[in-house]
Amino acid sequence: MSIAHGLSTEDLPHSPHARQLRAGFPWLIFDGDLETEFRRRNFDEKLLHTRVNLCLAVLIVIAFSAMDAIVLGPELGRIPSRICMLVIIPMLLIGLAVSFSPRRHRIHAPLTIATMTLIGLSLATIQVMATLGGLAMLTPSLTLSIIFIYFMSGLIFYHAVAANVIVMLVYLAAGTALVLPGREFSYSAMAIVAANLFCASVTYVHEKTSRLRFLEACLLGEMVARDGLTGIQNRRMFDQHIARVWQQAVREEERIAVLLADVDCFKDYNDRYGHQAGDECLRAVAVSLSQCARRPLDFVARYGGEEFAIVLYEASREYIAEVLTRIQRSIAELNIPHEASKVASRLTVSIGAAFVLPAANRTLEGLIQLADEALYCAKEEGRNRVIVMEAEYHTMRTGRFEKRRHRA
Ligand code: GH3
Ligand code: MG
Ligand code: MG
Repeated sequence: MSIAHGLSTEDLPHSPHARQLRAGFPWLIFDGDLETEFRRRNFDEKLLHTRVNLCLAVLIVIAFSAMDAIVLGPELGRIPSRICMLVIIPMLLIGLAVSFSPRRHRIHAPLTIATMTLIGLSLATIQVMATLGGLAMLTPSLTLSIIFIYFMSGLIFYHAVAANVIVMLVYLAAGTALVLPGREFSYSAMAIVAANLFCASVTYVHEKTSRLRFLEACLLGEMVARDGLTGIQNRRMFDQHIARVWQQAVREEERIAVLLADVDCFKDYNDRYGHQAGDECLRAVAVSLSQCARRPLDFVARYGGEEFAIVLYEASREYIAEVLTRIQRSIAELNIPHEASKVASRLTVSIGAAFVLPAANRTLEGLIQLADEALYCAKEEGRNRVIVMEAEYHTMRTGRFEKRRHRA
C-alpha cells in the first residue's frame, strides 16, 4: 500500500501504523493503543477550535434566549429562558473551563457527551413546550444543536452519534407521548432525523480522512526515524536522543554511557563478498546489537556506514560490562565468515565506550569525542576489542575489558 513520496507500508512491515493502514478501519476504530493515541491527538488538534466554538455557542444561546422571550411572549418564554440561563449556558461554561484542566484528556469525552445530550434534551423540551403552547417553529434551534454536536463540540463520530440519537429518541418519544399536533410534529421530526443523517454521513467521511491522515503522518514519522538498510534508529534519532538524555542526566545526576561499535575490516568484506552480502551483514549486526541493550532507556542506532552507537542511561559499570560482553558474544554467535579480515576468520567489531557523569564542566560533544577516541584506540591496538574510557575513575574493575584507561 503506497503512502506518499514513493513510500509504502511494506517499508515498515512491523509498524502498528502500517498494519492498521493495511487492515483498514471501516468501523472508525483502531486496534489497541493506537485508538487512544489517535483520540488524544485529535482532541489536541481540535482544542483551540472547540474552545472558540463553546464561546460562540454561549453567545448564540444568549441571543436565542432573548429571541425566545420575544417570540414566545413573557408567559410561555419564561421556562425556556430559564433552561437556557440555568442549564445550557452553565454546561457550556463548564465544558470551556474543563478544556483548560490538566485532566482534560480524560474528562472531555464523558463530560461533552453528557453536556451535549443535556443541551439537546433542553432544546427538545423547549420545542415540545412551545409546540404545546401552539408555536411549532423552534425546529431550527434543535437542528442547530445537532450541527453543533457533530461538527463543533470536538466529539468523535460515535460519541456525537450517541448524544444526538439520545436527544432524537427522547424528542420523538416525548412528542408521541404528549400527542403533539400531528402535521407540525411529523414535519419537525423528519427534519431532525434528516439533519442527523446528513451530519452523521459528513462526520463519518471527515473522521475517516483524519484517521487516515493520522496513520500516514505517524508512519512517515517512523520512516524518518529509521535507517533504511537496517531498520533500527538512524543518526538523526541518535542526535535527538543523546541531546535529550544528556539534559536529563544533568538534571538527575545520572551516569550516561555511549558505545561506538565499528565492524572491523568491512571494506575488505565488501571487496571479498560483494556489497549485497555487506548489506546483509550490517542488518545482522544491527539486529544483534538491538538485542543486547534492551532496558527501556537503552538506545541503539546506526551511527553511519558500518558504525553503530548505543546509549545507556543510568548506567552502572557492571551494566556496561554486561552489555559489552553480550555484544561480543552475540557478534561471535553470528559466526559470519570473513576470510579477508586482518584480525580473525569471522566477522568482528571494535568498540569504544565512554562513561561519564554529566556535570557543568562536561559537554555532550566531549562524551562522544571520548567514545570516538576509545574506538580509535581499539582499532589502533589491533581491532576485535573493547576500550572503555571514563572521566572519573582510574580503572574499570570488571576485568572484562582488554584495555583500561583513565581520562581526566
Ligand atoms: P576498520 O577495521 O579500520 O574499521 O576498517 P574498515 O574497512 O571497516 O573501515 P573503512 O572506513 O576503511 O571502510 C568502511 C567500509 O564500510 C567502506 C564502505 O564501503 C562500507 N560501507 C559503509 N556503509 C555501507 C553500507 O551501507 N553497505 C555496505 N555494503 N558497505 C558499507
Ligand atoms: Mg570498520
Ligand atoms: Mg568506520
